Amino acid sequence: MHGNLIDGEWVEGDATPNVNPSDTRDVVGHYASASAADAERAIAAAKAAFPAWSRSGLLERHAILRKAADEILARKEELGRLLAREEGKTLAEGIGETVRAGQIFDFFAGEVLRLSGETLASVRPGIGIEVTREPVGVVGLITPWNFPVAIPAWKIAPALCYGNTVVFKPAELVPGSAWALVDILHRAGLPRGVLNLVMGKGSVVGQAMLDSPDLDALSFTGSVGTGRRVALASIERNRKFQLEMGGKNPMVVLDDADLDVAVECAMNSAFYSTGQRCTASSRLIVTQAIHDRFVEALSERVLSAKVGDALDPGTQIGPVVDERQLAQDLDYIALGREEGADLVGGTRPNLEKPGFYLRPALFVGADNGMRIAREEIFGPVAAVIRVKNYEEALAVANDTEFGLSSGICTTSLKHATHFKRNAQAGMVMVNLPTAGVDFHVPFGGRKGSSFGPREQGRYAAEFFTTVKTAYTLA
Ligand code: NAD
Repeated sequence: MHGNLIDGEWVEGDATPNVNPSDTRDVVGHYASASAADAERAIAAAKAAFPAWSRSGLLERHAILRKAADEILARKEELGRLLAREEGKTLAEGIGETVRAGQIFDFFAGEVLRLSGETLASVRPGIGIEVTREPVGVVGLITPWNFPVAIPAWKIAPALCYGNTVVFKPAELVPGSAWALVDILHRAGLPRGVLNLVMGKGSVVGQAMLDSPDLDALSFTGSVGTGRRVALASIERNRKFQLEMGGKNPMVVLDDADLDVAVECAMNSAFYSTGQRCTASSRLIVTQAIHDRFVEALSERVLSAKVGDALDPGTQIGPVVDERQLAQDLDYIALGREEGADLVGGTRPNLEKPGFYLRPALFVGADNGMRIAREEIFGPVAAVIRVKNYEEALAVANDTEFGLSSGICTTSLKHATHFKRNAQAGMVMVNLPTAGVDFHVPFGGRKGSSFGPREQGRYAAEFFTTVKTAYTLA
């Protein structure tokens, strides 16, 4: 059994099987579910470890993050396979995500050596001012299942880089990647209590973290509903918090778009990673002259997409993550038909292995008022919305409660420029899929998608440090 890491010790607990969504007969491993008391012990350990770690030498922190990066990258095939096996994204996507995690640790190993502040003259003669950044304290990290190693990496790496101690609670569906990552960091030489792992149920372990008076900050990625709980609990406790939540990301295709580029962007945005990306595009907003050609070419791709075992080399689209998510996807597919849109694909393939397989579903003739165009489905389901012109496309793109990523396919510099300035989203993509981001630049959204400072790159310091302004009379 794989235990939780509390105060530098691996601790056993109720063993929960981790099942492969490509083949439910395959148990990836058994992982200990932590109790609320375990979570409280982990928080106490992180609190005890904070004074020494926050004052630790830069080279010590640099070396640990660097060592972790090296091991992650050296084991990318094995870790990528584990990820694909427990989450269901394809092996290539699993390896790609693992490499991303390695790059993130490498980036923050460098950031340790670039910690800086400012000195300014005071408006009052004879006084000097220093603006410095200090760690926030004990940080809770709660992550979703859809990026089992990259999201933990982009929270853990900056947290440790800036001198915080951590209690990390991964999603219950993907403990394997989380455990492997924490094992690497533990062996890289982190002092006891600096990084604690508590696997298990959100309603038990996560809730114990929300209820704790000893967490100084909480970084959360997941659904809007859980995000609201994190926000309310944090406000009550004067705790710093950051939320990355859902999306209903639009991709606009204009008449002057390169058709091949537009179809590739749509296929990737809507269906790769089985549509289970917060940056996935589920609203394809298409102007009228290109509409029919676009729908025809994309439908062909949808119907010929190879759905199968995440580990099979030919698979383009792996299974849905679990039974509950599959039922949700199927409910929305039924709803889209009731709402009057025409369905291409969206059936369950008849495969030998017992897994949560679903063909990509493309709705044609949708409008932006339909529930399939307003609510996050989080599966391989997208709706094509036909519009008259660019102005209507932009208005429809922005007509959503979310604002994470927004894309446009066009060869017009004028429209691309206008869209970049006017899309109400944290990230804008031109002739690129709405998903697929770099690790050294800010990541995050607006409106109902996000709350608080951006993640990733140097912007991560906004959340994982607190600023101090010191005045000295010389
Ligand atoms: P979820 O909200 O169900 O779970 C997220 C995490 O919260 C899990 O670790 C879960 O155990 C925990 N949790 C659940 N109940 C809790 C509680 N009462 N107290 C504390 N923690 C609790 O989300 P999910 O289904 O794992 O992930 C899918 C969602 O994540 C989608 O909405 C997706 O858009 C979003 N997501 C957003 C981003 C982003 O950066 N914006 C990235 C990836 C995923």
